[in-house]
Amino acid sequence: MDKYASGGCLCGDVRYICFSKPIMSGLCHCRDCQKNTGSAHAPILIFAKDKVEVSGDSAKTFEHEGDSGKTVKRSFCMNCGSSFMAEYEVTPNFRVIMGGTLDDPSLIKPEWNIYTSSKQPWIELSPHMKSFEGGFKKE
Ligand SMILES: [Zn+2]
Ligand SMILES: [Zn+2]
Repeated sequence: MDKYASGGCLCGDVRYICFSKPIMSGLCHCRDCQKNTGSAHAPILIFAKDKVEVSGDSAKTFEHEGDSGKTVKRSFCMNCGSSFMAEYEVTPNFRVIMGGTLDDPSLIKPEWNIYTSSKQPWIELSPHMKSFEGGFKKE
């Protein structure tokens, strides 16, 4: 498979390769992503599960309940703490890459904002992007 992008954690122990373009990408303003990343929002890229390959002994998964009531698995590096991927029980065929961990984050072309109900007041939304108060909805 041809490589589209690669990335990894801050210390470099965990690495991943994406073998296709993302299905879509956007910015998530939910409280869980704010906590998880320590930032105001998370740039997320959604890939088919079999298009992302992860390597590194320090990769660990933390599970919690998303607002759907279903499990969210967040992967991070046990050594440096970087959060690099999330997987959702509600969408089991997808892997979500946390965009800041890409080797070249300028590849990200965010198309939408989600969970703007918990957007911070000092963040201005781009008028060129769709926004959803909750999760992404197809129109
Ligand atoms: Zn690391
Ligand atoms: Zn989120």
